[in-house]
Amino acid sequence: MAGTINKLKQTYKCKYCEREFARESTLDVHVCEQKKRFQHKNDSGNRIGFQNYLKFYEITQGSAKTKTFDDFATSAYYKAFVKYGNYCVNSKVINISRYTEWLLKNNKKIDNWHHDNLYEQFLREYLFRENSSDALTRALQNSIEWAKQTGNPSEHFLRFGNPNQICHLIQSGQISGWVVFNSDSGHEFLESLNSEQLAIIFDYINPDQWQ
Ligand SMILES: [Zn+2]
Repeated sequence: MAGTINKLKQTYKCKYCEREFARESTLDVHVCEQKKRFQHKNDSGNRIGFQNYLKFYEITQGSAKTKTFDDFATSAYYKAFVKYGNYCVNSKVINISRYTEWLLKNNKKIDNWHHDNLYEQFLREYLFRENSSDALTRALQNSIEWAKQTGNPSEHFLRFGNPNQICHLIQSGQISGWVVFNSDSGHEFLESLNSEQLAIIFDYINPDQWQ
């Protein structure tokens, strides 16, 4: 008997994957890949991923005008771009725009854009060409951060900061050789390094590379 009654039942449909649910509360907690992509739309790594997806089309196709977030969310490259966006956030990439342009110009595969070795390669070229005021701004931000953590005056960062930490900041582009060479404290810092530390940072501050 019951099977013959054709009840008109309301269902709730997920607008992303079109699955239907009997209860609205089930739809609310339902998760699918596309829904997740829209929910994370504004996370910083995802936003950077989307911006660079657009940049990719601008540079390779001449325009990204027709591209929307929907296109991005259903793109085969979505995951690679988000991975790249997260990499930029976590590694504090110093100039994402220039870096993306460099990756495209050098025909680097999008799947590899989040690899450290590419970013290091970029830094070893870009750091010698960048605007000195950008280098100065970053150095200032890093020394202020150090001052906050240690309670020391920020101008003492290169002189009294932990040399290994500073070497790491040089290698990750946060402290430019330009700043090191143009300050007394930077010279003192260089003199205090052992040969191992110097070898690590050499390609990032190589004095012969400066024009
Ligand atoms: Zn769904």
